Amino acid sequence: MKKSLIGAALLGFLCLVGSSTGFAQVRGVYWTTSGFGGPFPIVALIPTVPKEKQRDITVPISMWIIDHPKGLVVFDTGNNVAISDGNCKSYWAPGLCDFLQTKQKRSDVIDEQLKKLGYSTDQVKVVITSHTHLDHVGNIAMFPKAIHVFQKKELYQGWWPEKFQGRSSPGVFVMADIMPAREFNYLELEGDYDLFGDRSVLILTTPGHTLGHQSVKIKLASGGSIIMSQDAIWMQENLDGYPAGLNYSVKDYTDSLNRLKFMRDLEGAQLFFAHDQDQYAAKGGRWYK
Ligand SMILES: [Zn+2]
Repeated sequence: MKKSLIGAALLGFLCLVGSSTGFAQVRGVYWTTSGFGGPFPIVALIPTVPKEKQRDITVPISMWIIDHPKGLVVFDTGNNVAISDGNCKSYWAPGLCDFLQTKQKRSDVIDEQLKKLGYSTDQVKVVITSHTHLDHVGNIAMFPKAIHVFQKKELYQGWWPEKFQGRSSPGVFVMADIMPAREFNYLELEGDYDLFGDRSVLILTTPGHTLGHQSVKIKLASGGSIIMSQDAIWMQENLDGYPAGLNYSVKDYTDSLNRLKFMRDLEGAQLFFAHDQDQYAAKGGRWYK
């Protein structure tokens, strides 16, 4: 009887420690890039940036690796491996290669990035994709064993984009990126989702850039939170009030940007953008724990 009381007390104590320190939650989050795009004028992406703030930018193509005890997660898979090492025009539309100026080495691609950290593609349990543009969904075909997490609307969008967003392929939606993955396992969401049921990896619906864009918020073991906006916010200039030039809905885009901004302010979270040159230079290529 006494023994079981001590046991119960110990269990209670462990639960308390667990909830206050984030016990057994995310072990770490790694921020990397699938090469770089640019240089190009910032106004090519954000037309409203005023003259005195205009400059040429070279942007990262952000990807994230999340180590959780219940499974390894990749958030966005970058540009397709086929455009590596100067072969852009063999896979993307030549005009897009000329505009985006993407430079990606074979060693920048997600499978090699995982290898550098000591993982293999086979170990990845979940692939979350923010949206179906070519610089985010490019290598989902490398993960046939994973559960692929999309907003259901984004799958509709990927397979049949609005004409004004560039339906003709190859444009910013590349059918060859998603076609080989058609028979994979999809967790099709219609809203926010708590990935492992412990609130440590939250998928946040952030439409506007595309019909079904989604972002991710992580609760780190240290207790801090980070929000990966991906293309809900390209870069600091968007947060400064200059909206992205490519949107499914400007109204939804603005609501989503504000959602993440106020979440950052209320929770004291760090907010990371998809394509911010300065932020990546200062904070990319490292683990967050
Ligand atoms: Zn992007």
